[in-house]
Amino acid sequence: MAQTDAWTPSSWQAKPAAQDVRYPDVEKHAQVLSKIKTLPPLVTPSEVERLRHQLSLVQKNEAFLLHAGDCAESFDACTHENISAKIGLILSFSLILIWGARLPVVRIGRIAGQYAKPRSSSTEKIGDREVMSFRGDNVNGFNPDDRTPDPERLLSAYFHSTTTLNHIRALLTSGFGSLHHPRDWSLSHVRSPSLRKEFEAISEGLDDALEFTRTIGLDSGRESLSYERGGGRGVLGEVDFYTSHEGLLLDYEEALTRQFPIPGSSASSKSGIPAFYNTSAHFLWVGDRTRQLDGAHVEYFRGIRNPIGIKVGPSMAADELVSLLDVVNPDRESGRVTLITRYGAGKIDIYLASHIRAVQKSLHPVIWVCDPMHGNTLTSSSGLKTRNFGTIISELTSCLRIHAECGSRLGGVSLEFTGELNEEGFSVTECLGGSMELSEEQLGLRYQSFCDPRLNFEQSLDVAFLISNHFKN
Ligand code: PEP
Ligand code: MN
Repeated sequence: MAQTDAWTPSSWQAKPAAQDVRYPDVEKHAQVLSKIKTLPPLVTPSEVERLRHQLSLVQKNEAFLLHAGDCAESFDACTHENISAKIGLILSFSLILIWGARLPVVRIGRIAGQYAKPRSSSTEKIGDREVMSFRGDNVNGFNPDDRTPDPERLLSAYFHSTTTLNHIRALLTSGFGSLHHPRDWSLSHVRSPSLRKEFEAISEGLDDALEFTRTIGLDSGRESLSYERGGGRGVLGEVDFYTSHEGLLLDYEEALTRQFPIPGSSASSKSGIPAFYNTSAHFLWVGDRTRQLDGAHVEYFRGIRNPIGIKVGPSMAADELVSLLDVVNPDRESGRVTLITRYGAGKIDIYLASHIRAVQKSLHPVIWVCDPMHGNTLTSSSGLKTRNFGTIISELTSCLRIHAECGSRLGGVSLEFTGELNEEGFSVTECLGGSMELSEEQLGLRYQSFCDPRLNFEQSLDVAFLISNHFKN
């Protein structure tokens, strides 16, 4: 394997890059990248280090990881309503887990940069035309007449990411994450009475607990969902929250890769040990279509200091998985690698146990996360891309069972969900089933995703209660 060569932020360029984008205007592309190289980082080394530390606790079974958000963000959806609905759902979901499982939750959003999409086919047929596939808002437009890759979209992605992150920071530093009013996290539209009741029971229990700590004088003045026991200010304000996206467009990621001293390293010297941080997000993952051992993406990922995710599907051989871990985590650092498995409900029994056993034998420290979404996509009779809630739950429960059988533990979940509501306050209708029993006929009502179908608010809380009850028992 040639990965022993020196790493630089651009060493990936010498390797084949799957899902590469070809820009007709090469000069413009170069200009845009030069501009991005001069723009400030979105996240800081100390935030990245804090996440690394928290993930090392997940790896040691002392916390649970929630990775969630849209399949793809769009520039148009960058609004106050959408961002606060998404953050509210992530907070509600994590509160259910913390309350039931009595475990701290590390929250990583698929947000503030999740624009680029890998595609199984480079072109698609629309009407009688064959056009380039939509590759995400940072590459081309969803409109079939706007499919030529435009480098200006990279700049726009940078600024939309910045705006989104700025709003998240503003929300979380202004009391939005406060446990004093969790009902504000947009529960008003939940129509399932049992779901409402369950969530309200948690809110009331929480009120009592907060009242109790105030009464006995433990109140520090700021109860929060902060990760550290005893409170403390989180990365983005009152609660800890981190951003992530698929590290797909390597030229963009390279432009935001910056060298900094590792905070707190080498206390005796002023400068600290230098490392390369990807400053576009706290956490990046490599997708199932770009994780080739000798490919450009793995080359790029092995050199950054950020914690990383690797998608693991049915096409991954067990020995290939271990080789990949040797490349991206040669020093076997805890919290560095999260394996996000996504086999499909019908296939998880064939693959997961052998992957777990191979990793156990290698002694690599990893976090195992279940993505029950990406192996379970189907096309409805009306032609809409959808997922069945029951199948999602089936992969998740199989995953919990297989980990237990192998003496391993599921450390987290990776979900595509949205708290988005339309003007009348109705949630999206993209996945079938759940406690709201969404039917095929209802799918078309409010199908808003322009990429993969997402769980709506109610369906997401259904999943949260399932996991929470599992860990409670
Ligand atoms: C995704 O997470 O949106 C995705 C495309 O996943 P995968 O690489 O696992 O197919
Ligand atoms: Mn997706």
